Amino acid sequence: MTKQPVYFFGHGSPMIGIEENSFTHILIEIGKSFIENPKAIMMISAHWLTRGTFAATTPNPETIHDFGGFPEELYRIKYPAPGSPEFAREVINLVPDILENDKRGLDHGCWTILNHIFPNADIPVFQLSIDYYKPMQYHFDLAKKLKPMRGKGLLIIGSGNIVHNLNQWFNRNNDNPYSWALEFDEWVKGKIIGRDFQSLIDYEKQGDAARMSVPTVDHFVPLIYCLGLADESDGIEFVYEGVESSLSMRSLRIG
Ligand code: ZN
Repeated sequence: MTKQPVYFFGHGSPMIGIEENSFTHILIEIGKSFIENPKAIMMISAHWLTRGTFAATTPNPETIHDFGGFPEELYRIKYPAPGSPEFAREVINLVPDILENDKRGLDHGCWTILNHIFPNADIPVFQLSIDYYKPMQYHFDLAKKLKPMRGKGLLIIGSGNIVHNLNQWFNRNNDNPYSWALEFDEWVKGKIIGRDFQSLIDYEKQGDAARMSVPTVDHFVPLIYCLGLADESDGIEFVYEGVESSLSMRSLRIG
């Protein structure tokens, strides 16, 4: 069994689920690049926040349209991949902190990405929630414990955004990036290249640029999971970069 890579994707607006652009083209290419397809996919999305950490054992997860005010077309999209109660239970057995949820479906942080990577929806998918009440260090340490799952054929994907400030995005009438967004995105890039993950866990020390780029931690946490899953021997490659207004689409592959 080949060890599966780990991906972190910026997911932007739910519209990427049906749009075609330079980012979705990259997703399609990534889908074709697997030497050995994963046996299952575990998504860590910014949009499943809980008290306690849960893995979904739902046999047939529904497609959740967890957004408002988008075109009808987007609400018709279904991502009918089966769940993977077997892999989800392995995750739960590996880390006793993780609890079971047998009802959760797939939110837009999950399916808008997978719709491009694996359009046939034939690889089982389940989500791992983010305990919103825990500090960054907890998430990094939890991710480290999940590393053995990669060798069992589980593809782990984090879906969020390194820079995600919707208040500023709605205030803006053009796509020009804010200077603080560029600054923080560039700083994160440097820390990833230098493998200084501890500075990323402690990102709040970066002052104003960090405060503006990460006003709430939900979209940043998935990146921390991905970095916690990295082995020293893994290469890290940026598969996409770009800052639009107050949103970074920087995405990366580990391993
Ligand atoms: Zn989001």
